[in-house]
Amino acid sequence: MSDEHSNLRLRLRPTFASEWPMLRDALGDQEVMLNANAVAASRDALAVRVLGQQGFKIDPVTMRLDPAMGWTQGTSGLKRGYRILASAYGRGLDFDLLGAIQWRNVSVEDRARYLANVLDFQRGHLLRETRDLLQLFSPTELTSVELGVRPTALLAPYVHVEGEDAIADQIALWQVTPQSFEGIPVELVVALGRRALEDDALIARLAAEVIGRPHAAMWVWVPGLRLKLSSVLARRVNGYRNLVRILAGSKKVKALHADFIEFLMSYEGVDEGCSGPQLGVAEEASRGAGLTIGLFYSPIAHAFVPYKVAARVVERCSSASELAEELCPCALCADLFHEGKATFNGLLLAGTPLKTKNGLSDTVVQATRDAAQMNRFHNLLARQIEVNEIRNSSASEMSDRLMRSALRLLEDRNGVLKWLGSALRRSVA
Ligand SMILES: [Zn+2]
Repeated sequence: MSDEHSNLRLRLRPTFASEWPMLRDALGDQEVMLNANAVAASRDALAVRVLGQQGFKIDPVTMRLDPAMGWTQGTSGLKRGYRILASAYGRGLDFDLLGAIQWRNVSVEDRARYLANVLDFQRGHLLRETRDLLQLFSPTELTSVELGVRPTALLAPYVHVEGEDAIADQIALWQVTPQSFEGIPVELVVALGRRALEDDALIARLAAEVIGRPHAAMWVWVPGLRLKLSSVLARRVNGYRNLVRILAGSKKVKALHADFIEFLMSYEGVDEGCSGPQLGVAEEASRGAGLTIGLFYSPIAHAFVPYKVAARVVERCSSASELAEELCPCALCADLFHEGKATFNGLLLAGTPLKTKNGLSDTVVQATRDAAQMNRFHNLLARQIEVNEIRNSSASEMSDRLMRSALRLLEDRNGVLKWLGSALRRSVA
């Protein structure tokens, strides 16, 4: 057991440059994690944004460069950000990075060059060629401009670790990962496949590899862990806790993408998690970036529920404090509830039925533009509420509260848990 939970940090992860003003409005000035593809695609805009920011880091998103992962292609071919990344990361290499690279078979020299390229992109891309532009925005002298657009740490490249070959590829990259680059500390990253979490031997091997490295921090990510409720979820969460617990013995463990489960891992030693207004859903490539389907996040149930389930709960609540206990205690929800239930539903829960293979869906809707935007704002407030709750609760207080709220929701024949229960039965069947 760890007491990291009381210092748990939320690092914001905007998906689009346009989300920045909203992030500040909702949560004030916080450290951010930028996606390298966004840095590549809109360098000048982001360079200006990070000036005066508390500190930032760049996720090199190296895993996404394999087109088979579904990230690189837009409606009109290769997306610009990924084209720039592939060329920057591949400088001096005689193979194309837009593919599945078997790093275990690449020479030490080429791997080291790749490492230097990926780290140098994070260190210098925002600064290079924008120096003159930045001076227009900042009256400070050039040295502080340089400091201002320099990340506080660099993240090492990572692959999707799902089996033995992939773990060999990741280890081959770690072997050439320096502890620091141009005076900036380097942090390790592992993206572990969901199924790998059920493989105790693989977790032990991975942890042993990492513990032997001199790096102080390690980012962990399990892509798509919770997108589907399933009977194996509990087993995977146990594997996840196990991994975090082992790593936390010698590293600062951080969650590259954090939902409620990752923040709960702070009781095992996670000290920081990245989360954005899309609340992780954007990381499912097949849906694309942007949560436009009509699901409402409840920081009470710690789950997404369909708009119509949320609307049912709103309908029977008679006060904002009741709503706070049943669905969400955030300031936005309280304000909208005071304006009236029609306003609440119209602004936060509005959408049109989603077309599916079997006709129009009756549970999932396509959010209106306004509702999608309102939900992003609400998501940020909800996430902050969850993080504060964890910070201020011991593990046993938290687990008591989760149990009580599960029991209360269970008694509620019409509410959130009824829907969760039937979704679980469907996914197990
Ligand atoms: Zn809310």
